[in-house]
Amino acid sequence: MQLIDGKSLAEVTRSRIARETQDLITKHDIVPGLAVILVGDDPASQAYVKMKARACKEVGFYSIVHEMPDTISEEEIIGTIKMMNDNPRIDGILVQLPLPKHIDTDAILEVIDPSKDVDGFHPCNVGRLATNLDAFAPCTPLGVMRMFEHYDIPLRGKDVCVVGASNIVGKPMAALLLNAEATVTVTHIYTRDLARHTRAADIVIVGTGVPGLIKADMVKEGAIVIDIGINRLDDGRLVGDVDFDMVAPRCSYITPVPGGVGPMTIAMLMENTLKAAKMRIVR
Ligand code: NAD
Repeated sequence: MQLIDGKSLAEVTRSRIARETQDLITKHDIVPGLAVILVGDDPASQAYVKMKARACKEVGFYSIVHEMPDTISEEEIIGTIKMMNDNPRIDGILVQLPLPKHIDTDAILEVIDPSKDVDGFHPCNVGRLATNLDAFAPCTPLGVMRMFEHYDIPLRGKDVCVVGASNIVGKPMAALLLNAEATVTVTHIYTRDLARHTRAADIVIVGTGVPGLIKADMVKEGAIVIDIGINRLDDGRLVGDVDFDMVAPRCSYITPVPGGVGPMTIAMLMENTLKAAKMRIVR
């Protein structure tokens, strides 16, 4: 069994992005800029935004965090996004999710200029990804694809079971895998006999938010298991959706939590922002 070390792959990726950023500044006088909108005071969202801002600083990006109270109206958020769309120093715009219940998340995401949509949630990028055109792909599944590339794990013709079908994890993961010519089964909470699907797969990718969902008898011997889940247990421990200790001995490769997919997600946000900034060269 080999551990897929997302932490060190993310570090290498961020160093490369820092070098490319210096190049972009020197040769084109372009400093990549990321704007983050944070609504409310959810501690997990605040922690994620802090990590993103720190990552921007490390790679040499300009970044701003626009904090808003959770009483804010949809119109005010939309107004702020429109200003960011027009701001030439901002290459990427990210709205930290989840938003408060009174806000229509889909309506907010649609206002982001698709060329600044570094989270890849705008329907325009979703459609482009689904049709295998150049697009901003959502950072978490993109990070998983980078892991497969780095560890030379071929995908063409492989049976992959994606567990979880959200717009930000499972569905774009399935689209990327299909584009890579894998045979993809997408499962979710209403799937009957989940184990039948996971057991048949060469690769199992799980993002559900259910700690310990994937047990040893649910994966075949030699399977590759990617755990996207991040769950905080009552005792403070951070765990994924896979019963790691029992599943790992059966795997050829497995990602740990923490230190697996999580760090890659932030690295891919930097990557997407750099990609957006490079689009200024041809403009
Ligand atoms: P979500 O709640 O939007 O979606 C969960 C999905 O899992 C749904 O499709 C649901 O049908 C499915 N599901 C729930 N229970 C299930 C079960 N018992 N069996 C099969 N399917 C089940 O959640 P999300 O935003 O997609 O996040 C999922 C997990 O991934 C969470 O733990 C989240 O913290 C984590 N996450 C991690 C990263 C990262 O950077 N590693 C990024 C985003 C999300």
